[in-house]
Amino acid sequence: MKAAVVPAVSSTWQVKDVPQPQPGAGQVLVKMHASGICYTDVHQTLGHLPGQFPRILGHEPVGEIVAVAPDVTTRKVGDRVGSAWIQSTCGRCEWCLRGRRMFCPYLKGTGGEAQGGHAEFMPMNADATYLIPDKVSFEQAAPIFCAGYTVYSGLRWANPKPHERVAVLGVGGLGHLAIQYAKAAGFETIAISHSPDKDKLIRNLGADEVVRDGKGLASAGGADVILSTSNSTKAMNESIQGLRPDGRLVTMGADAEPLSVSLLDLISKRIQIIGSQQNGPEYLYEALDYVAQGKVKSMIETYPLAEAVKAYQRVAEGKARFRAVLTM
Ligand SMILES: [Zn+2]
Ligand SMILES: [Zn+2]
Repeated sequence: MKAAVVPAVSSTWQVKDVPQPQPGAGQVLVKMHASGICYTDVHQTLGHLPGQFPRILGHEPVGEIVAVAPDVTTRKVGDRVGSAWIQSTCGRCEWCLRGRRMFCPYLKGTGGEAQGGHAEFMPMNADATYLIPDKVSFEQAAPIFCAGYTVYSGLRWANPKPHERVAVLGVGGLGHLAIQYAKAAGFETIAISHSPDKDKLIRNLGADEVVRDGKGLASAGGADVILSTSNSTKAMNESIQGLRPDGRLVTMGADAEPLSVSLLDLISKRIQIIGSQQNGPEYLYEALDYVAQGKVKSMIETYPLAEAVKAYQRVAEGKARFRAVLTM
């Protein structure tokens, strides 16, 4: 099969022939139809995250099941499925037993320790697959398995109450979905965006207001929740001044800089800073369902697998509007 392979750390991706995988025990084989490229792919390629090379990345894989292992009873050939970050966990540690598999020390990540989706076929653990609603196309579904799942999880984890205001910092692959989810969930939604050229588009996504920074957010009345999808620690720090008392900053992106926060601000406004990831499958279910209802739509650029190198460049340079999705 053809696959986009990262041969070594910080090297250029190569689209080449590799042996086609077969489903092992508990697995299904998926003929891939779409696979989104996340900024995490850039972190992985550059070695910012642990992982072996050569490796096939891609943790937004979706497609159709073409084979199932004999012991699999919950999935069948023809099912339309996707998989998120967790490919497998040990099932025995405290965190697996508590149902918080994301903290399992033996977690195997999709496109991390397990093969990712930038390929024509991918073996998925049956219990790591999620059925895609009939109304959602493969191309629309792919970005939901990381970007959509992550931002919707962040919104739910912030536990916004009726009448609270939600701001989204950074309007890219994650942020453009975060605006739509906050709006679909019924919250007044403010985008924090540095680039005036995106304003019209941001309003079309459903934002009630667009501000430039935390100061602008404060003048616009502030927010109770800031969903930070930015990769800039500086921008996150600056945005805090737009938080209202009892406000929550939910961080979902990162760069190498530590976040340094004024403790006086933190205490006087009783602010919470919350790290968030993919917080459990019920949020993925809801995130996909909003897409099925037509309330959230991924804005994507699609590239055939053969053009994976070009697609990756777009993502690495921050040029993709807003998610680059490989199609097979
Ligand atoms: Zn991702
Ligand atoms: Zn475990």
